[in-house]
Amino acid sequence: MKPYIREKKSFDFSEVPKNTSFEAGYLVTVNSGWRSIRPVINQDKCVGCEQCYLYCPDGVISIKNKKAEIDYDFCKGCGICAGICRVGAIETEAERK
Ligand code: SF4
Ligand code: SF4
Repeated sequence: MKPYIREKKSFDFSEVPKNTSFEAGYLVTVNSGWRSIRPVINQDKCVGCEQCYLYCPDGVISIKNKKAEIDYDFCKGCGICAGICRVGAIETEAERK
């Protein structure tokens, strides 16, 4: 196998940690200063499907009590989470600095 191809290992979805990269110790530099748009989760619409959590490239979304939460200290405002949410629970607004 080529060295850059990771060995495939199956895992159960329940084994995936539900915390953020910061909580796991992987993010240490606050990068929210990059953000020009802010994703806002409508908790009433959120069905806890975890798609935003899985797709957030920086791992700043956590699932708590079956609802998604964003760590705004580390969210860079890419908007991927808003695009992936099928029930439209994440809207973006202009960041006010
Ligand atoms: S993708 Fe939408 S519905 Fe699913 S957990 Fe995220 S905010 Fe909630
Ligand atoms: S805007 Fe980007 S970095 Fe911020 S929570 Fe959504 S996917 Fe993650």
